[in-house]
Amino acid sequence: MTTTLDTTFTEPAPSALLLLGQGRDMASERGVECAGELPAPSDPDLVERARAARQALGDRAFVLGHHYQRDEVIDFADVTGDSFKLAREAAARPEAEYIVFCGVHFMAESADILTSDEQQVILPDMAAGCSMADMAEINQVEEAWDVLTDAGVADRTVPVTYMNSTAAIKAFTGRHGGTVCTSSNAEVALRWAFEKSGGVDGTGKVLFMPDQHLGRNTAVEKLGMSLDDCVVFDPRKPDGGLTREQLDAARMILWRGHCSVHGRFSVRNVEQVREAVPGVTVMVHPECTNEVVGAADLVGSTEFIIKALDAAEPGSSWAIGTELNLVRRLANAHPDKSIHYLDSTVCFCSTMNRIDLPHLVWALESLVAGRVVNQIVVDADDAHWARVALDQMLALPGL
Ligand code: SF4
Repeated sequence: MTTTLDTTFTEPAPSALLLLGQGRDMASERGVECAGELPAPSDPDLVERARAARQALGDRAFVLGHHYQRDEVIDFADVTGDSFKLAREAAARPEAEYIVFCGVHFMAESADILTSDEQQVILPDMAAGCSMADMAEINQVEEAWDVLTDAGVADRTVPVTYMNSTAAIKAFTGRHGGTVCTSSNAEVALRWAFEKSGGVDGTGKVLFMPDQHLGRNTAVEKLGMSLDDCVVFDPRKPDGGLTREQLDAARMILWRGHCSVHGRFSVRNVEQVREAVPGVTVMVHPECTNEVVGAADLVGSTEFIIKALDAAEPGSSWAIGTELNLVRRLANAHPDKSIHYLDSTVCFCSTMNRIDLPHLVWALESLVAGRVVNQIVVDADDAHWARVALDQMLALPGL
């Protein structure tokens, strides 16, 4: 059976991101440009140079590759996984002096928090940030908490932040008795938070950051809440755009953030693939909108999607709504199944894609030469409180 994957390219939408990884934007999660002398992308020896540098470093380095990374980078990863799995893998390698994190900035921060002080975490391109993480800045979140306090609901609210957030937001969550969650354990984390704040059926509330869709989908699809139980706190509006009455009545206070990749999938995409591929099973990530999740057959994290395709019957047809690098790799790994991309336009994560072979070669060769470049170091106080929130997540059942 032929593997089908529609990769028609269209021009990307205008974006506030630094598309070529140049310049400085200290207000963003990634912060700074890559200052390195990078090898040319056209260098025919790049693969050989990466191989030689990797070999020279041996066990002193451990290379992590997120599922959304390019193939040319994944080829050099010692382990692949989602952000949480990778952070734990890093923590399980105390002998590695250097953790080279091929992913985005918040992931490297989590690895720095979970590894020892002797280990150094390196992000090959400092411009590899996450637009979702950038949507919740610490000053905005602190102001939001003041709004909740003034409305008299903060003492009934437990903050929960998705892994896809800055270390400062994780630290805020730890300071206020909350937890971190992943897309795999969001239901367990929310049940814990509601128990702590007054019970799922009681008066307690959760402030969920930064992805409104994961929060809404989990509350509605897993906890049986209604859409009316959820309100969206917009940090760009006075008091989040909410009245005291709305805050008082809400159960889920959702931060106005989203993933620029998963937010692109639409119900029309689902309808079109069902028309084009009879019998197709549509599987999407919970960062998609609630409408898309409602129209799909299955919803789950990247690890869930990988396992579901591993277990799928030969000859079965699938349409997958997550990042394109992963879907393309899965299509290649399952030539006995028909795997379609849910969107008809290309949907790479532009910031994940910033890590490429020239950046990886530069980072590895610098380490071989004794220069640690692009080290990610989380402020000690933030690291402590973020660790408190991460440890709370690790104490939840099912991890
Ligand atoms: S896929 Fe979305 S959430 Fe993940 S790094 Fe890219 S923008 Fe951030």
